[in-house]
Amino acid sequence: MDIQLTNTLTRRKEPFVPADPGRVTMYVCGPTVYSYAHIGNARPPVVFDVLFRLLRHVYGEKAVVYARNYTDIDDKIIAAATKAGEPMEAITRKFERIYEEDMGALGVLEPTLKPRATENIAAMIAVIEKLIAKGAAYVAPSGVYFSVGADEDYGKLSGRSQDELKAGARVEGEDDKRHPSDFALWKASKPGEPSWDAPFGAGRPGWHIECSAMIEEELGSPVDIHGGGVDLIFPHHENEIAQSETAHGHPLARVWMHNGFLTMDKEKMSKSIGNIITPRELLDRGWQGETIRYALLSAHYRAPLDWSDDLLEQAQKSLDRLYGAVLRLKDAAAVEAEAPAAFVKALADDLNTPAAIAELSALVTAANNARKPADQARAKAELLAAAHLLGLLQDDPEHWFRASFGNEAAEIDRLVAERVAARAAKNYAESDRLRDELAARGVEVMDSATGSTWRRKS
Ligand code: AMP
Ligand code: ZN
Repeated sequence: MDIQLTNTLTRRKEPFVPADPGRVTMYVCGPTVYSYAHIGNARPPVVFDVLFRLLRHVYGEKAVVYARNYTDIDDKIIAAATKAGEPMEAITRKFERIYEEDMGALGVLEPTLKPRATENIAAMIAVIEKLIAKGAAYVAPSGVYFSVGADEDYGKLSGRSQDELKAGARVEGEDDKRHPSDFALWKASKPGEPSWDAPFGAGRPGWHIECSAMIEEELGSPVDIHGGGVDLIFPHHENEIAQSETAHGHPLARVWMHNGFLTMDKEKMSKSIGNIITPRELLDRGWQGETIRYALLSAHYRAPLDWSDDLLEQAQKSLDRLYGAVLRLKDAAAVEAEAPAAFVKALADDLNTPAAIAELSALVTAANNARKPADQARAKAELLAAAHLLGLLQDDPEHWFRASFGNEAAEIDRLVAERVAARAAKNYAESDRLRDELAARGVEVMDSATGSTWRRKS
C-alpha cells in the first residue's frame, strides 16, 4: 500500500518512503502543559493518531516509533506557577494528567514515547554548545541566540524571504540580539525562576531547542515525519530546522506535515482570542469522546474545520448509524477481516478522512444489506477493522446507545425490562404501551433470540 503525504517543505503531495521500513519515526509537537487543552489543540493529536494507526497497519505495530513531547518549561508555565503560587512541576504534572485523560476520551493511542523537556536539558545544552562552537550561536547577557545569518536556507519551510525575515520580531528583554530575527536558544533566568547550570551561563531553554534536542535524543534525525499545527511552521519549525541542520549537517525531518486550524465562526480557536471550548466541557455536557473525534476527522486535516454544535450533532447521527449496523449484527459470528482496500486507499491518500468516512458508510450499507450469516459476519468484521483505523467503533454498541442517553439510560433499561416481562406474561396491551412510551423517548427496541436491546431511533 502506497502512502502519499503532503510535504510542507516541498509543497507537494509525494509518495511516503521511510528511511527504514523496519523503524518508521514520527515526531509531533505536543502541548505546553499549563492549562486545559482546547478542541483546536486536540486536532493535531487526533489527526496524527490516525496517521500512527495507518503507519502501524502498513509497516507493522512494532515498526513505528512515535514521539509526542510535553513542553513543561516555558514562559507561560512560569507565569501560571507564579500566579498559582505553586511549584512549576505541580502545574505541569497536573495538566499532563488532564491532557492524557482528554486524549484517552478521544480515542488517541498512547504514543511510543512522551519525552518531557525538563528531562532532556543536557541534550539541549549539548546542541547549543555545538552551535556556539560552529559560530552559529552567540552568548549575550540575556541569553544565547541562534544567528539566522549562519543558515543559508533559513526560511525554506515557511517560504519567507530573507527580506521579510530581516524585519523580524522584536521580543521584550532581547535587546542584545545582533539581528532582529535571531532567536533564543537559552534564556538567562531571572531570580526565582527555574534555572539549570550550563557552560554558557545558568538559565533555561528556549522553546524551539527543546524539540530539536528531544528529536535527536529520542528518535535520531532525520525523522521520517514531523508534524504539528499550521501555526507552528513559523517560527517554531523553521527554527527547529535551522538549529538542528546547522548542528548536525543533515535534514531534521524528511516529511513535514501541518494540520489546518480549527475555527469558530471562521476565527481560529485560541486561548488568546478567548473563543475556546475544551474537550472536557463537551464531555461534561454529555457528548461522547468518539463523537468529538468523528467531528475532528470529518474534514481533511489540511483544511480548516469550523466547529459548531451542528457539527457534533451530525457526527453523533453518523456514529449512531455505524453503531446501529454493529448492533443489528450483534449475533453474527466473529471472524477475522482486514479493512477493505478502498478504505485504506482513501486514508493512504494524504490521510483523506472524509473519503475514508464515506467508505465506512458504504460498508454500513453492505452490512445492512447482508442476508447470509457468512456475509453478515464478514461485513461486520470489515466495518470494525476499517473503523478501528480511524479509532471509531471502539465502544460496545449497547453501551454506546446507553451513553448517548446520559442519565436517562437507566430508566430506559427499566422500561425495556418491564416490556420483556409483559411479553412473557402475554400482556400484549401493556407491552405495546411500553413500546409506545419508549418510542416517544426516541428509543427503538430490538427483540432477538438472545433478548431485547435498544437504541436511539434513526
Ligand atoms: P500550543 O499548546 O498552543 O502550543 O498548541 C498545541 C498544538 O495545537 C500545536 O500543534 C498547535 O499548532 C495546535 N493548535 C493550536 N490551536 C489550534 C487550532 N485552532 N486549530 C488547530 N490546531 C491548533
Ligand atoms: Zn516542536
